[in-house]
Amino acid sequence: MSNRTLNLTETVYQYILDHSIREHPAQTALRAVTSTHRYAGMQISPEQGQFMAMLVKLLGARRTIEVGVFTGYSALTVALALPEDGRLLACDISDEYTQIGKPFWEQARVAHKIELQLAPALITLDARIAAGEAGQYDFAFIDADKCGYDGYYERCLRLLKPGGLIAIDNTLWSGEVAAPPTNNDTAALQALNIKLHGDERIDLSLLPIGDGLTLARKR
Ligand code: CA
Repeated sequence: MSNRTLNLTETVYQYILDHSIREHPAQTALRAVTSTHRYAGMQISPEQGQFMAMLVKLLGARRTIEVGVFTGYSALTVALALPEDGRLLACDISDEYTQIGKPFWEQARVAHKIELQLAPALITLDARIAAGEAGQYDFAFIDADKCGYDGYYERCLRLLKPGGLIAIDNTLWSGEVAAPPTNNDTAALQALNIKLHGDERIDLSLLPIGDGLTLARKR
């Protein structure tokens, strides 16, 4: 017995997958397609996706944001968790990668919930703020270029309602955040983690799920 988070062995990790994962067939198929992609490591794990779907349902979220779509597994997962009139503003700059996910969004019959914006996310999010959408969103997932995280966080915080939640991926960065930085991505994540720790605008939880998932609830 331990009150510290387990250092997961392959066996225990497989046990979690075997005893908890409930994927739509389109999720399983999209993960299989993405597993052969050269950047397959950018896809979130199924247990992280299922956890985020749980959060979306607990929040009763209707309007959601994703910064960094890649091949669309997390977008598919959030869209499946949304009610029929729920919407996901999905921000990415790659037509090539997001095209991979679209057939699976269709297969799961959630494509109508996903509004894909192919542009730098700061431009998309600033346009939404300028359009008067601040304070109207329930949930945001940030999983894109690490040096851009702080800018995405600030925009998402403005767009969220009080009580809304931002989930930020890769905040442990393979554990590298706990050592002196050797590159700009690590330094950016360290600076953000320090900022969030002292940020009185949010309630905070940094979870050792996946590559580190920070939850920031807007006060
Ligand atoms: Ca990620």
